[in-house]
Amino acid sequence: MMRPVDKGAAPVAMYANYATALPDLEQRLGRYCSYCERYIATNLAVEHVQAKSLVPALALTWSNFLLACVNCNSCKGHSPVTVADYLWPDCDNTLRAFEYRTGGVVAPHPALAAPVRAKAEASAALVGLDRVPGAATPPTQSDLRWLKRFETWRKANDALRRLSQNDTVELREQIVDTAIATGLFSIWWTVFAADGNMRARLRAAFVGTCSNSFDASGNLQARPGGQL
Ligand SMILES: [Zn+2]
Repeated sequence: MMRPVDKGAAPVAMYANYATALPDLEQRLGRYCSYCERYIATNLAVEHVQAKSLVPALALTWSNFLLACVNCNSCKGHSPVTVADYLWPDCDNTLRAFEYRTGGVVAPHPALAAPVRAKAEASAALVGLDRVPGAATPPTQSDLRWLKRFETWRKANDALRRLSQNDTVELREQIVDTAIATGLFSIWWTVFAADGNMRARLRAAFVGTCSNSFDASGNLQARPGGQL
């Protein structure tokens, strides 16, 4: 987590009802939770970065919208949010903020400077992405985000191994198809770290991935206007 995304300009000046922004968001960003990155076929919701109950002035505003699954949504709830205290997938290069490890464990990247690291930790805690079995706050029974990361890590590594044994364009396309149907862009991107062609395919296939979070060689770079 989290794939850096570009929502683009607001499709309309103001929504009459925030729920009507859902198809626009899904078209621009794909059916992925903006926080945990899972593909969510149904029940994906328009997420208000600043809760509509606390900041009603932003309740219908495109810039305040993301997409969230029920787990990320319920963890975040109606917490008051000071935007500058966190990292956001539509503003920052959030792919630089976290590191994926064997088993789908996600943690703030060790190379982060302390102030940004604190924001990465705060962002993970805000939506409960730090909830794994054994943690101080373990996941609830209905929160299987950690398991999906675990399974996707294994699935991506299996794909990497198969590709090393039988490298064809068809298999590359098939792996990308699997990735976009699964979500968890960051895990695929991490597992295929040594394969620039696969990374480029993944970036292109996941709609809405922020292009200026990458340099011409496909490496991560500071996002213009972002905190990292
Ligand atoms: Zn989520």
